[in-house]
Amino acid sequence: MTDYRRLRVALLGAGSVGSQVASLLRQHADELADRAGARLELVGIAVRDVDAPRDVELPRELLTTDAESLIMGADIVIELMGGIEPARTHLLQAINSGADVVTANKALLATHGPEIFDAADQVGAEVYYEAAAAGAIPIIRPLRDSLAGDRVQRIMGIVNGTTNYILDRMDTEGAEFGDVLADAQRLGYAESDPTADVEGYDAAQKAAILASLAFHTTVPLDSVHREGITSIDKSMMDAARHAGYVVKLLAVCERLTGGEGEGESISVRVYPALIDRAHPLATVHGANNAVFVQAEAAGNLMFYGAGAGGVQTASAVLGDVVSAARRHIAGGVGVGESTLANLPIVPIGHVTTRYQITLEVDDEPGVLATVAGTLSEGRVSIATVEQTVVHEANGGPGVARLVIGTHKALEQDLSETVDRLAASGVVERVVSVLRVEGD
Ligand code: NAP
Repeated sequence: MTDYRRLRVALLGAGSVGSQVASLLRQHADELADRAGARLELVGIAVRDVDAPRDVELPRELLTTDAESLIMGADIVIELMGGIEPARTHLLQAINSGADVVTANKALLATHGPEIFDAADQVGAEVYYEAAAAGAIPIIRPLRDSLAGDRVQRIMGIVNGTTNYILDRMDTEGAEFGDVLADAQRLGYAESDPTADVEGYDAAQKAAILASLAFHTTVPLDSVHREGITSIDKSMMDAARHAGYVVKLLAVCERLTGGEGEGESISVRVYPALIDRAHPLATVHGANNAVFVQAEAAGNLMFYGAGAGGVQTASAVLGDVVSAARRHIAGGVGVGESTLANLPIVPIGHVTTRYQITLEVDDEPGVLATVAGTLSEGRVSIATVEQTVVHEANGGPGVARLVIGTHKALEQDLSETVDRLAASGVVERVVSVLRVEGD
């Protein structure tokens, strides 16, 4: 057996991911030593309760509630506690004591990323976070390293497994949102409080991380436009299917080219959107994730796989640990984060997409002309219209459903126009307005 140098590895957290990381580190110790060029010695695991039951058996003597002492003297610190504090304080402590750090903590990086990256820069440490954006899927390294010589134009990601599971079952089984959510909670795909997933907060954190990397720009979480999927119902799913689309919760990070005299800017947004069924993202089923990247030279790339799960996420974490160990041995700096471009981030009103607007209108002569006129006045150009009768006139006016597909329009124009339509005498109800992505 090669006599490798030993690196002291401290693990903070032994939950779903941490317990699997600890187990794999011990199980594959010899192979990992050969790959890393150093023996990765797990010196301790910080937890809240050393007596809590664990998913895998861990040596009792490694468990401690004293994270601070564990961090002091570690070469590599793996943070898998989650949440903001004390994870933030521990990561900064690890960096300042000379360790390289590995984390899967999207909430922390999306809110305190610049502080953590700056601290690491100041002391020449590295921060690895492959597992923070889409679990097991390698996407951080491709954006940070492999595409460092290219220009990313757009990222469209299905980065939340819970919402994809719910929307996929609504699409394939014709089920209602509430029923599938209850099922997802029973099966462990959704938390008992599903807010972070179904309201898009989790996806927004990942979008902020991906956009920062892709566009070399600091993207604060509050600059990410966010909408969840709670308003999506069976009738919207049916209409989408009928029109050849599927509804997906998308994280869209896009480089925009300004008007005359204006430079580039970016838009980062999370919302349920219609995707053509022929698009590769439409084929992402169940709780899987996928990130579709469009780059100037590379063209279209898609990264697909498990976006969560203890052992799957542990794979990405261990890849980072091996990278950290190799750097620790060889020295030098990695590609790192760059915020050199610092492009302005535009609000949602400045974004241009196609839309599908569904209205219930009075089924009377002239109504279609009124709707078309209002859209045209609002600079929204119609691509397709389909009309179906909801109920026949029975004493009063009948009601028809109009499904209008638009050409690309400015969000601000579109939303003002939809408000005018809603207030017009002929529209009974705006059933839905969905963006169409994936051109
Ligand atoms: P988890 O199951 O809740 O485990 C958290 C672990 O951290 C537990 O072992 C807990 O100790 C420990 N811990 C929490 N607060 C602590 C404190 N103040 N002091 C000491 N120990 C503390 O979390 P997880 O699902 O493994 O997730 C870990 C990280 O990975 C999170 O940032 C998450 O966003 C990210 N991530 C998770 C997944 C996934 O599929 N689970 C996927 C991608 C990324 P006790 O066990 O004693 O309570």
